[in-house]
Amino acid sequence: MFELRDKEMASKIMGKLRSLDLDIKIMHVCGTHQDTLVRFGLIDMLTEAGVNVRQGPGCPVCVTTPMEIEESLALARAGKTVAIYGDMLKVPSETGSLLTVKSEGGDVRLVYSIADAVELAKNIDNDMVFIGVGFETTAPSTASTLLSKPPDNFSVLSCHRTIPDALRILVESGKVELNGLIEPGHVSVITGSNMYEFLSRDYGIPQVIAGFEPLDMLMGIYMLARQIKKGEAKVENSYTRAVTPEGNIKAQEAMAKVFEPCDVKWRGFPVLPGTGLRIRSEYENWDARVRYKDILEPIWQKEFEEPAGCKCGDVLRGELDPADCPLFGTKCTPTNPIGPCMVSAEGGCTIEYKYRR
Ligand code: SF4
Repeated sequence: MFELRDKEMASKIMGKLRSLDLDIKIMHVCGTHQDTLVRFGLIDMLTEAGVNVRQGPGCPVCVTTPMEIEESLALARAGKTVAIYGDMLKVPSETGSLLTVKSEGGDVRLVYSIADAVELAKNIDNDMVFIGVGFETTAPSTASTLLSKPPDNFSVLSCHRTIPDALRILVESGKVELNGLIEPGHVSVITGSNMYEFLSRDYGIPQVIAGFEPLDMLMGIYMLARQIKKGEAKVENSYTRAVTPEGNIKAQEAMAKVFEPCDVKWRGFPVLPGTGLRIRSEYENWDARVRYKDILEPIWQKEFEEPAGCKCGDVLRGELDPADCPLFGTKCTPTNPIGPCMVSAEGGCTIEYKYRR
């Protein structure tokens, strides 16, 4: 790990980047990439070197919609035990947060993995719903859990999403004029690098898959800048120690068995066709939306607004820097978050507040 934080090597790569005389705008879609860029001060050095790095919709908790938060709240309020990753606890919605429901006596449990949730379900005398949030990084473990036939009192509210098609829609929208994409390392371990080829072939987007250490990021960005400078558009992989062209075939097969693609709204985006993961009917015994339709149907009839004044949508589209939100650091802080980008450890606003404020 320390080799991947070597200052001398970082200086050399920065020198090479500066020698390219750049004025480019690139995007990544990964909260951990943003953390590395801000925590190690890379983002300012890159800006000075003519590389404007934007953060896209790469924080899974942040892109989860108010409707999905309200579904979780409704289940907890109806007396179900709700198991969540910690980052979900304080995400505010119109009628409160899971923390609010917990303080009102709701049974909300924090878990580190879906396996923990299954173990809990085995030891409680209540129905448990696991809120399945995340991209290709966490969806395989949800899939393999359902394939292993968890207990009858266990179910999943699938809020899983997939990244590659969301990128296509982002590129097609043309809202953020991009010269290239840094692809997320964790997601790519599962999808493989081949998955992104359509973006270079059909849209002429240069791409590099990068890991999470400072030198991973700098090297990935240098490779991307070199492509842009040469007028090339291809997928390069600077994270070969973890990502293969085909990805994790077993994980892909498990996902394909348990989930089918569906249209889903992302926070800050409209409905993005085919980017959601719905539990297939063969596994509907564990699908909270089927099992608890009576509880959730009234929620589905409503519309839920984004928190007043919150600019998370703009941040997630890479159109606004978190610090430029008028509420940043004043009305909205990690102890009193207005939107999910100030709740999740992977949220752009949390990262900005933690390291640069
Ligand atoms: S600073 Fe707070 S209110 Fe503003 S975009 Fe971020 S989370 Fe939303």
